[in-house]
Amino acid sequence: SYRKGGYHAVRVGDPFAGGRYIVQKKLGWGQFSTVWLAYDTQSSKYVALKVQKSAAQFVQAALHEIEVLSVIADGDLSNSRCVVRLIDHFKHVGPNGQHLCMVLEFLGDSLLHLIKYNRYKGLELNKVREICRCILIGLDYLHREVGIIHTDLKPENILLSNTIDPAKDPVRCETSPILERPEGNPSTGITMSIIEKKLKKRARRAAAKISGKRSSTGGATTKPDRRLDGIDVQCKIVDLGNACWADKPFAEEIQTRQYRAPEVILQSGYSFSVDVWSFACTAFELATGDMMFAPKGGRGFSEDEDHLALMMELLGKIPKKIAIGGARSKDLFDKYGDLKRIRRLKFWPLAKMLMDKYKFSEADAREFSEFLVPLLDFVPENRPTAKQCLEHPWLSMRRSSVQNETANEMCNKSNIRKVETGIRNLQIRVG
Ligand code: ADP
Ligand code: MG
Repeated sequence: SYRKGGYHAVRVGDPFAGGRYIVQKKLGWGQFSTVWLAYDTQSSKYVALKVQKSAAQFVQAALHEIEVLSVIADGDLSNSRCVVRLIDHFKHVGPNGQHLCMVLEFLGDSLLHLIKYNRYKGLELNKVREICRCILIGLDYLHREVGIIHTDLKPENILLSNTIDPAKDPVRCETSPILERPEGNPSTGITMSIIEKKLKKRARRAAAKISGKRSSTGGATTKPDRRLDGIDVQCKIVDLGNACWADKPFAEEIQTRQYRAPEVILQSGYSFSVDVWSFACTAFELATGDMMFAPKGGRGFSEDEDHLALMMELLGKIPKKIAIGGARSKDLFDKYGDLKRIRRLKFWPLAKMLMDKYKFSEADAREFSEFLVPLLDFVPENRPTAKQCLEHPWLSMRRSSVQNETANEMCNKSNIRKVETGIRNLQIRVG
């Protein structure tokens, strides 16, 4: 992709915007861009520099993202609304063409990293509440004040606020550009694996602190850090490249598969409430470590059909009116509102699943599902808005983690039916 119209090859030490920004290391990349840690010599702060590919469609997309981010920044002068802040933007000419560059505030790891470092076991519920509150503040701001639908909300696109000072973290900052350059590099594999291991270990330790959970590495345990219990886990919504103004939706197929709302699959039109659906999927993933819906196509049915079946198994049947009301309904549902090619559903309500499969205590399962289920209403208009979600009592509950652990242990002992889970997951649908 490092050719005409593609990525710009950035090297550590490269100056941008006439020398104002000096590149330090690579932070990540997407389909459209590479993102770099850079030092802003004007403000003496670290920033994230997003360098877009140069072909016309990427320039177009960057212009759109800059427009959206500018409106977001203008309406949030105190930078407290939990959405990433645009600091600056400019053009950069390189051998592959002209690249639009965005300078963003420098943020930390994504929630996906947090889930991974925690070994997909789910975070402590009090942390989940704190993260959920941040995401909802951001969504409420985007929806009510900016008038924009994010359309790609997921753990990857929510970044933790930064607590790491790059200047004091030499391992992370000096070596990563070599590790992460997508085109490969001449450095030796040995060096890479040692550094990689070091980085992973540090990251895991940091994440264990944030999540307040034990990380079990072959018997060794890290005690939850009680000093962090009272500290808010701040995070911010990023990646507004796909965001669209609510009054002019431009794409029919939006959202990443697992976080996609049913009305998008059915093509019945969509609005702000698609983000509320994705938010609920994200909250579930934070609390359990698993995706809420991970559909797969099979013999005799498509990925869409499996997805709808999984939704119904967890949330009950889609009301007939909704099922048959979309442009794609005829392909998927019969005239009675039943799926054409998946005839047998195994209902497993959320609260029960949280107890059976994830060993939640009865109270935790009931409270969490009372919060989540309304957000997953098949009728988009019935879903609460982000603002209404913020008012839900679940977000301000607080149980001590000791109580939680005891409750979970008791639940485990009395729960004989846990084997059920594995069997169900192996089950293969036939058309
Ligand atoms: P794309 O539009 O190409 O998908 P993203 O905006 O999703 O680009 O950014 C790609 C990656 O760069 C992200 O997944 C994240 O790892 C990193 N990143 C993006 N913005 C920031 C930021 N403000 N601070 C730190 N890292 C960032
Ligand atoms: Mg992205």
